[in-house]
Amino acid sequence: MSKIPPKRLQALAEEHGTPLVVVDHEAIRQNYATFKRHLPRVQAYYAVKANPAPEIVQTLYKAGASFDVASFPEFMLVYELIRRRPAKERQAFVWDKIVYANPVKAKETLEELNEYKPLVTFDNRAEIGKIAGHAPSAGLLVRLRVPNTGSMVELSSKFGAEPADAVALMEEARDSGLVVEGLSFHVGSQCTNFENYVQSLNMSAAVMKEAASRGFDLKVLDIGGGFPVHYNRHVPPFSVLARKINAEVDRLFPKDMEIIAEPGRFMVATAVTSIATVIGKAVRDGRPCYYIDDSVYHTFSGIIFDHCPYHFKSLRKGPAEVCAVFGQTCDGLDTISQSEALPELQLDDLVYSEDIGAYSNASATWFNGFAPAKVVHVNQ
Ligand SMILES: *Cc1c(COP(=O)(O)O)cnc(C)c1O
Repeated sequence: MSKIPPKRLQALAEEHGTPLVVVDHEAIRQNYATFKRHLPRVQAYYAVKANPAPEIVQTLYKAGASFDVASFPEFMLVYELIRRRPAKERQAFVWDKIVYANPVKAKETLEELNEYKPLVTFDNRAEIGKIAGHAPSAGLLVRLRVPNTGSMVELSSKFGAEPADAVALMEEARDSGLVVEGLSFHVGSQCTNFENYVQSLNMSAAVMKEAASRGFDLKVLDIGGGFPVHYNRHVPPFSVLARKINAEVDRLFPKDMEIIAEPGRFMVATAVTSIATVIGKAVRDGRPCYYIDDSVYHTFSGIIFDHCPYHFKSLRKGPAEVCAVFGQTCDGLDTISQSEALPELQLDDLVYSEDIGAYSNASATWFNGFAPAKVVHVNQ
């Protein structure tokens, strides 16, 4: 995919200053189109937490996406876009456009959600009582615990009902007066082991069969997120995964089963480039070290929260040497990379990092008094 050319990055840095985060909306539209082209049966519910910039939500909404939200503020961020629909369309539209996919919700949140008749996930008995008491209008999806083997971020130790318990949970929900609409799962983020999807689809089909025998008419299968970004050449192509998913979905589920997914990273990672300035340099243990005006507590927070390594490019030409790049804060943890290949840099040089749109500035802090990077949107 075409990236923003280095000259344009330089011009943006001169105009806006650094640290800077550049969001390319054309890349977001391309990612959405790629997802739809390869998975035509699947409606994409963009997982807002990957990058909650309202401009991104707006672009994906215009492209036809729906949304996965996990808090009431995220819910309202999306709901603002559908508020303009005629009242009688709005409820169906809420389900078409939003899934509240955080299996655990505070009572207060459920009370706030209830008036919108949301579609929500759950995976435990305590949640059934809370939903019945505080959001009885909600439709339910049971989140299954599925294999997360080899995913960069694993979720199966925190979320998901054992498949063997799923139908008993559905019955308990039904006995509490709630309506179960379907199943959901998540194979773990940046999933490069495609067998996770195949196994999860087969587990879902088995649970659906058992549910049907107990009188449930499930209509929705939510295959979650995890769709991997091509950060490096070891990541197998998305087209290969899509072919597997399409084949299993066609084989295992009836034609009228509504299949939805919750891609987060896939939609935004490649659409963002961060630009920083070299503000200090030193030689330690014989190795050049550069200090930049961004940090692990800011745009590079994904190194911690997302287990995602980031690399740098420079606008300067010259023979590459191995160096380290550190953030601007006083903390030793604030080590962005111990091993980069860059030409010898000078103070005030720019460096940039690509594919940094997911779980990056979304989790930036104000640690040490440094403000998060300014965000600019291009090709909106
Ligand atoms: C975080 C999350 C996603 C998005 O995952 P990606 O790996 O970014 O695609 C989707 N669904 C749920 C429930 C999540 O928690």
